[in-house]
Amino acid sequence: FEFVRYAESLAGSQPTFTPLADALAASPTLMDLHLQELTKSSIEKHQPGLVLLSVPFPGAMYAALRIAQTIKQDYPAIKIGLGGGYVNTELRELTDPRIFDFVDFITLDSGERPLLALLEHLNGKRSAERLVRTFIRTASNEVRYINWQEPDIPFEEVGTATWDGLPLNSYLSLLDMLNPMHRLWSDGRWNKLTVAHGCYWKKCSFCDVSLDYISRYETASASLLVDRIEAIVAETGQSGFHFVDEAAPPKILKALAEELIRRKVVISWWGNIRFEKTFTPELCELLAQSGCIAMSGGLEVASDRLLDLMKKGVSVEQVAQVTKGFSDAGILVHAYLMYGFPTQTVQETVDSLEYVRQLFENGCIQSGFFHRFTCTVHSPVGLDPAAYGIELVPLPPISFAKNDIAFIDPTGV
Ligand code: SF4
Repeated sequence: FEFVRYAESLAGSQPTFTPLADALAASPTLMDLHLQELTKSSIEKHQPGLVLLSVPFPGAMYAALRIAQTIKQDYPAIKIGLGGGYVNTELRELTDPRIFDFVDFITLDSGERPLLALLEHLNGKRSAERLVRTFIRTASNEVRYINWQEPDIPFEEVGTATWDGLPLNSYLSLLDMLNPMHRLWSDGRWNKLTVAHGCYWKKCSFCDVSLDYISRYETASASLLVDRIEAIVAETGQSGFHFVDEAAPPKILKALAEELIRRKVVISWWGNIRFEKTFTPELCELLAQSGCIAMSGGLEVASDRLLDLMKKGVSVEQVAQVTKGFSDAGILVHAYLMYGFPTQTVQETVDSLEYVRQLFENGCIQSGFFHRFTCTVHSPVGLDPAAYGIELVPLPPISFAKNDIAFIDPTGV
């Protein structure tokens, strides 16, 4: 699990590209040399004209740029595009041109439309002026963001993910802590799928609700989702699914479960939800019958005052009832927890710990993890700090990554 954090401090919320540039200019490590060999053998095998690098987390950025560096050195004619969750979240205000020594194009948010435009551009059928949500470096060594307005591809039409050509049986299975949910994440491989695009709730004040991956909520029919599931099982030979939605909508999960059962499609699956009251014991039972083995969701601060302030839309009592319903249906329940939310007192933090202890004791949850609250610039708290009683610490001038922001909380812990 911690591998996703490898060298993340070089990229996460780094105001300039300098730390990454220095690390990439240093002699390659043993792992870098291994990555170079893997990169070269893939390029030789596939002979691509365009390579796309997806960087989901800051910890993936260093390795992605090492791959790009190898390609630029040995195969300078190949174009390289960069995108993914880290880019979409942190590089929105990019002005430092040095990253373009490694890549040629950087795209933001859902990739389908920007990539179709980019392919047309590289095939000489579209001018650079008509790229979509794409950063480039100009001849005068400046970063330019081009956003020709074209609609995104609807979630119903994005097609089915493919892992074709990847050595799926060579994935490492890792167990780095005893927490059962963390073990699910990293011990063994799961097919990844979203049952919707974005979040149907999009109100929580600590969440990046202003960004496309949360704010643009689109769904697909249950029959289409099961078509995608069947296609993925046929391609990979693996029937385990991790639904990677930030918060899977209960209505869609219900329809999906009914469709899986109706079509006798046997899979195991798990995902992320809000512990909202729509998840009745009957629905939990139905989800279990369709193959659901685990659910994670935010209990966050375990305090009704703070849950209200963060607009989570659930109460402590409701979370207890919903998690009990899942547990009684034989589904493992993991609670995301946080401390240090604006105005949270020491007493509230201790109360929340005690509350979590009781949830374990009463068989409502089997797993939980406390994170320290982080204020991000795209969240409602970061956008309107005064409404949460805090003051933001001014950021230095930023030409590269922007996400976490320090704050002063005069009332809290
Ligand atoms: S925290 Fe989860 S439920 Fe809340 S807005 Fe973000 S994605 Fe949606």
